[in-house]
Amino acid sequence: MHALLGLTAEIPPTDFTLGIDAPDVVADRARRAARFPALKIKVGGPSDIATLEAVRAVYAGTLRVDANTGWQPEAAVALLPDLERLGVELVEQPFPAHRIDQLRWLQERSPLPIVADESAVTIDDLEALRGAVAGVNVKLAKCGGVGPARRMLLRARELGFRTFLGCMEETSVGIAGSAAVASLADWVDLDGNLLLAEDPWAGLELDEGCRWALSAEPGLGLRRRAARAGAPSV
Ligand SMILES: [Mg+2]
Repeated sequence: MHALLGLTAEIPPTDFTLGIDAPDVVADRARRAARFPALKIKVGGPSDIATLEAVRAVYAGTLRVDANTGWQPEAAVALLPDLERLGVELVEQPFPAHRIDQLRWLQERSPLPIVADESAVTIDDLEALRGAVAGVNVKLAKCGGVGPARRMLLRARELGFRTFLGCMEETSVGIAGSAAVASLADWVDLDGNLLLAEDPWAGLELDEGCRWALSAEPGLGLRRRAARAGAPSV
């Protein structure tokens, strides 16, 4: 599919997302995710720095944080020195979607890129974010599919944003469609299928560097996984 879109199969590796939990629990998950070159840590509570410290103690790779609108401006700016010290690469959506003024205020004070996610749903949101944040997170499920994501990523780059390609909890269908446009992203967070107990689709594999291997087959190159013995047919 990437070839049909005029894009290359050279894509950045995906990070792996860790949800909010007690610091030692998150650190334990980080240890188990050691193969990934970057982790995206969900934050937004009183233990954020303790969590990042615990992860950093067991994981040497890149850290990204996503506050999912859960921070307050003054508290966020106070966290910046610690985030920098702990080697955090970017901060995603610290404030509510409509508070672009707050995002701009923090970006002006932050050496780290602030990335809009909830504030950047479709291509129409990009103009208002210009000059406010350094990056935008594009997701197929937000903007409407492979074609809209390609257009949004290209437009974001034109406007000078750094681009983060994200996902929801999705099967390999969503992740393979996203991976097809991942050459337009500076950062990739395509792990939704890895979080599922059972992905009904097979054919999408990570290479040893945690890059999704794009298929040269027609479509997404996926096939329906054989039903388990005894499982009800659907
Ligand atoms: Mg997010």
